[in-house]
Amino acid sequence: MTITTPGRSGSNRVSDDLLVEPTRPTIETFDPRTGASLGHVPDHSEADVAEAVARARVAFQAWGRLPFAERGDHILSVRDLMLDRLEELVEVITSETGKLQAEAVFTELMTACETIQYYAKQGDKALRPEKVSAGLMTHKKAVRTYEPLGVVGVISPWNYPFILAMTPIVTALYAGNSVVLKPSEVTPMVGQAIGRLFAEVGAHPDLVQVVTGGGATGEALVRSGVQKICFTGSVRTGKRVMAAASDTLTPVLLELGGKDPMIVCADADLDRAAAGAVWGAFQNSGQTCMSVERVYVDEAVYQPFVDRVVARTRAIRQGTTVGDDIGSMTFPPQLDTVERHVADALDKGATVLTGGQRVAGRDGLWYEPTVLVGVDHDMDIMRDETFGPVLPIMAVANVDEALRLANDSVYGLNSSVWTGDADLGRRVAAELEAGNVCINDVIVSYAAPALPFGGVKESGIGRVHGPEGVREFSQVKSVLSDRAGLKREAWWFPLPKQMGTVGARVLRLRHRRGAVNKLKALLPR
Ligand code: NAD
Repeated sequence: MTITTPGRSGSNRVSDDLLVEPTRPTIETFDPRTGASLGHVPDHSEADVAEAVARARVAFQAWGRLPFAERGDHILSVRDLMLDRLEELVEVITSETGKLQAEAVFTELMTACETIQYYAKQGDKALRPEKVSAGLMTHKKAVRTYEPLGVVGVISPWNYPFILAMTPIVTALYAGNSVVLKPSEVTPMVGQAIGRLFAEVGAHPDLVQVVTGGGATGEALVRSGVQKICFTGSVRTGKRVMAAASDTLTPVLLELGGKDPMIVCADADLDRAAAGAVWGAFQNSGQTCMSVERVYVDEAVYQPFVDRVVARTRAIRQGTTVGDDIGSMTFPPQLDTVERHVADALDKGATVLTGGQRVAGRDGLWYEPTVLVGVDHDMDIMRDETFGPVLPIMAVANVDEALRLANDSVYGLNSSVWTGDADLGRRVAAELEAGNVCINDVIVSYAAPALPFGGVKESGIGRVHGPEGVREFSQVKSVLSDRAGLKREAWWFPLPKQMGTVGARVLRLRHRRGAVNKLKALLPR
């Protein structure tokens, strides 16, 4: 990403409705497969963000009052338009990220459609008013209700620029909020394409607005007085977002990075585990917060597992056309991180079994799918998020050592365990310190929209998907109403003289355990 002043900025492919004004700063966006410029988008200022939030607040006034059915209908109409625009959306996603058409269709568009379907059809179950106990006050009615927050700010990353913006947007909308999106400066045109979808379905022109720019634009959104920030990105930026949000006590939902472990037990189906490891590590060129970042294999099956992984990794087809398995990487600094982690591992004694370098003679962001062994926890590759096509594998004595090492991390996003023993699978799943666990599978839990997704430890705060996800964009309001219509309550003034002693008896009667103890409570003391 470069920030430029127009006039010096070269070709401009931004569509008419999003024209870059000639006097304003812009950011430039590139095709990572070739390094070619894709054009410029506005670098929105703090004032632009404030205006967008003010307009969103007006849009919220009408939108927040609509019944669930109408909100659901609206997001389904957005889905219809997505399907009409499928090829156009795939084109903008693939050209800004370098991922393949198949990856864009399945991991970005299909997943978004599933999430829309889930909330449009089932979201109301999580948000309906719910009658609950009023405790001792049996003559009262207690109801828990969910209300929209107002304006939600969504800040999204570049690795899944469509789904990681769409998920919080449609969820926040369904809960009755309006939204201002700040997409990554690496993939702003995907953000603009999302903005056009909502503008064209058009319940209200300002219901979903998109502001483009870098970190400063994102920080302006955090500080803009929105009712919640949903941030997806790195731990480092997530901490800055939380610190800035603390000035106004703006609540934050943080979906951050991971160093997701895979545990392969001695009784695992090795063919399936090896194929799963290779897909889980290299799909989207390893740039997935839920990807397999490190593997711990029982030493009894270490060598056959490694042999299978290496054979499958060597067979990966890396390119830009239909029939390839993975595309390019997306963001130049991420490739630097990959090279730094591999170099650090090699310096400390690791061995490359396949890959280990940039693809020779090719422009753009291409790194060979890489398998490393001889790794340990003194190496960055086993501790810091690599976020690239590298799979380090470590032999362990048993499942307990694997668990200890898997949990030896500041991260806790995704994880997996591979075993033929269902009980062992459940035990390991319970002991893994992570927000999400797959048993004999990888990554796909995100594609189940009823399953809450999010991290523990430094991988984040809060959840998207499921009932928890839509409640993140709601505030709970407790409503207690009197239904007996008495002239006065027993505890109102003037207090009866016996109030304290009667109260003590009632307290013991209600809360002592066992019938005999309850009876004793009635006796005078
Ligand atoms: P990033 O943290 O660099 O940027 C994310 C977004 O934050 C961008 O839109 C950026 O412009 C914005 N931003 C930067 N500085 C800001 C500031 N001070 N205030 C507000 N916003 C600011 O992350 P990235 O490189 O775009 O994405 C990759 C990271 O995202 C990886 O760590 C990955 O694991 C993580 N990620 C997490 C999930 C998840 O669901 N947990 C999903 C995808 C990616």
